[in-house]
Amino acid sequence: MISLSEAQEFVLSKVERKRAIATPIDKAIGLVVSSDVVSAIDIPPFDNTAVDGFAIEESALNLLSGQGSVTLKVAGTIAAGDGSKREIAEGSTYRIMTGARVPANTASVVMVEDSSETEDGKVTLTGVSSQGSNIRSKGSDVSVGDVVVPEGTILNPSHIGTLASIGLVRVPVFRRLRVGVLSTGDELRDGGDELAEGQIYDSNRHSLLAALSQSGVEVVDLGIIRDDADLIREALSSAAEEFDAIATSGGVSVGDFDYTKAIVQELSQGNAKWMQIAIRPAKPFAFGVLNGAAFFGLPGNPVSALVSFELLMKPALAKMAGKKSLLPQFIYATAQHGYKRSLDGKIHFIRGVIDIGDDQVRVSPLPKQSSHNLNEMSQSNCLIEVPDSQGFEAGEAVRVLLNSSVWM
Ligand code: AMP
Ligand code: MG
Repeated sequence: MISLSEAQEFVLSKVERKRAIATPIDKAIGLVVSSDVVSAIDIPPFDNTAVDGFAIEESALNLLSGQGSVTLKVAGTIAAGDGSKREIAEGSTYRIMTGARVPANTASVVMVEDSSETEDGKVTLTGVSSQGSNIRSKGSDVSVGDVVVPEGTILNPSHIGTLASIGLVRVPVFRRLRVGVLSTGDELRDGGDELAEGQIYDSNRHSLLAALSQSGVEVVDLGIIRDDADLIREALSSAAEEFDAIATSGGVSVGDFDYTKAIVQELSQGNAKWMQIAIRPAKPFAFGVLNGAAFFGLPGNPVSALVSFELLMKPALAKMAGKKSLLPQFIYATAQHGYKRSLDGKIHFIRGVIDIGDDQVRVSPLPKQSSHNLNEMSQSNCLIEVPDSQGFEAGEAVRVLLNSSVWM
């Protein structure tokens, strides 16, 4: 057996970041920015009002501040998008709408809630106002030359909005990875098919397609391949031509029909590695580079396949996508219940439920912990790391890996 960190280092040492391209901003969510994005304009591009109200000049503001109210003549209305140049005359005001450019000599904008208009075209303004209030000044969000989104940023919706706000159409990013997913196993059928005795529905392909989509890659479903060395060889060599990465499940253990690991070894000209990793679940794992494509042979048991994805495949995809933080991030939580295990030289990753309370983060292990208990896993929202030991007691601090769904 090799340690988890050794396995992770091996995989990470064999994969490389993909090339940078300019992608339309609406296709860039979740991608990593490949060079600093600098703004060529100020945001806002002009001084404008933050409220619907009345723009007043300095002498009106002084009266309002001194006497608590001021009555002014309404000279007109300024709508958002109106670019005309205006000046507020003494004794008058403009009615102005949120986002509209303010006249050059505007001292402040009084909100409409602090106004009462009379029929003779006048308005009385009240309330507290000071120099500059309710004015969003030019460049107050972004100035010309600012780096708005630095290199290495993983684009989220507010980044996309920021890029749009400076008028960018395409953004420099590391291109989105394309990943093909297939299952191996004579026992597997697709939903909609009848199950004969001895058969089961393929769940791994779908859980992996889902996990990959959530990680921001483009996925392609390559179906079920029977336990037949020629069919597996053919499927893997054609997938290697087309994809950045390939995920398979099953066929990497020590069973008689576990062909995948041997075929990967053959197709990678001996550069693949079949590993027995000192973890439970997800001990067997195969990795290789086939014609430039990263191949991940994940174990067949459904819980193992997802744990292996999380601990080994996701970090590698992160590196290929240009991310900087690669390995899973753990947090500490207080165990609500104890958990017993025995020494076996492995780190166990058990499924648990985390509860983010007001004063403490608590975690409870779930009762069913076998690698086929996928439904139990679906009731969990984290993995608890249990080092090679007798387990832990209630009240102890344990390391926890949150499922990405907890953050979403
Ligand atoms: P294997 O590693 O191929 O021996 O598979 C280990 C266990 O996982 C067996 O019980 C398989 O039936 C099961 N298994 C393999 N592939 C899948 C799959 N795609 N969906 C659900 N179970 C699977
Ligand atoms: Mg199998």
